[in-house]
Amino acid sequence: MKSLPYFCRGEVVRGFGRGSKELGIPTANFPDSVVDNLPADISTGIYYGWACIGNGDVYKMVMSIGWNPYYKNTKKSMETHIIHKFKEDFYGQTLSAVLSYSFSSLFLCYLSPDDLIAAINSDIEEAKVQLELPEHSKLKEDNFFTSTTNSSPVSSSSAASTSQSIINGH
Ligand code: ADP
Ligand code: MG
Repeated sequence: MKSLPYFCRGEVVRGFGRGSKELGIPTANFPDSVVDNLPADISTGIYYGWACIGNGDVYKMVMSIGWNPYYKNTKKSMETHIIHKFKEDFYGQTLSAVLSYSFSSLFLCYLSPDDLIAAINSDIEEAKVQLELPEHSKLKEDNFFTSTTNSSPVSSSSAASTSQSIINGH
């Protein structure tokens, strides 16, 4: 995928209460302005990379890019599970993420709930290992993550494409 690594940033918005948190796998949702800016070659699937909240520490993450059933699968969503235990929710804060690599996409919709949780947890374990490889771990140190104080979140669709190209051309 030529668009990887892909950098993105936006405000954490509420998802659609699919209860990820109850499953032990909360997923922070990006707003449409970020989702709509995804390059065409970033297809639906599971990605791994790095993420931080505000100016906080950079942690490993796994992200699901998928079709949103709430909108009858006409809209995509980007849901990020940060591999860290946070004391509090962070709705409304800025999430910065870099997508480093993609898993071969699984047909998750065919799985039972228990198998789905097991599949996601095995993806998380795999991501933890893969992200230690130099080609992925170097992104943790990228200055994208230290520049959050200087740039506002991508919050409007008109500003988004310019901001996105600045972010990825940094
Ligand atoms: P929603 O449907 O609103 O996305 P979730 O059950 O998926 O609800 O929970 C997501 C929220 O949980 C995030 O927006 C964030 O505020 C919080 N959260 C706490 N810990 C994490 C984490 N490790 N990764 C992602 N989100 C987390
Ligand atoms: Mg969620």
